[in-house]
Amino acid sequence: MTSLRFVNHPLEEEYHSHTSDWSDGKNTLEEMRAKAKALKLKRLMITDHCTTDSTSLYCKGRTGNRRNPEDRNISDLELGFGVEADILDEEGGIRQDIQGVRFGFNILSLHGSTYVGDPTKVTDGMINAMIRHNINLIGHPYDFHLGKMDVKRIVACANAHRIGVEFNCKSVLNGNADMEGVMTVLNEANRLYFTTDAHSTDNLETYRRDGLTFLREEGFSLIYDGGLI
Ligand SMILES: [Zn+2]
Ligand SMILES: [Zn+2]
Repeated sequence: MTSLRFVNHPLEEEYHSHTSDWSDGKNTLEEMRAKAKALKLKRLMITDHCTTDSTSLYCKGRTGNRRNPEDRNISDLELGFGVEADILDEEGGIRQDIQGVRFGFNILSLHGSTYVGDPTKVTDGMINAMIRHNINLIGHPYDFHLGKMDVKRIVACANAHRIGVEFNCKSVLNGNADMEGVMTVLNEANRLYFTTDAHSTDNLETYRRDGLTFLREEGFSLIYDGGLI
């Protein structure tokens, strides 16, 4: 049986989630926080989408107006804030701010709607961005956006720079992921994160439960801090 060693505790720490206040989640910050407490999470990292030129919900929040950035200043032990940054081109250009504010925790993802570079060179873009910018976690590198990325190259570069790579429950459970790429991440990433990419309070619960079931049914044993989960 293959063991997966996670950087975060899959049942207690969430590092990838969205709200309706700053991007395309369905629930507010307060609702997400209350749900996290009900689920006994010890850490909830809110990582809304960065500001881009897109007119989509990504950048506007559900109400069409993003909440005041100061409303995020209620961090405590259970709550942290980061950003899901977008890769923009093959040179590794990215956006990593929300309303001009930068964060200490940066997920880097490719989303087809915001990438304006050469679509055949998205892997180069991810590699260059890892070299150029302060990135903590690579988001869903196996998703079907603009064709396949070279997940092996991305994971090798992430390992070399001590950058995390996620097992993204949303991608896998919704069929958005190329499973060969997912298995590459699970087997080769040195800093493996379990994330839900929750866009609602329900996602926080069901994606976590179903993602763990998926991994167990695939025959993995799950390890955190030396102990079996
Ligand atoms: Zn994403
Ligand atoms: Zn996301």
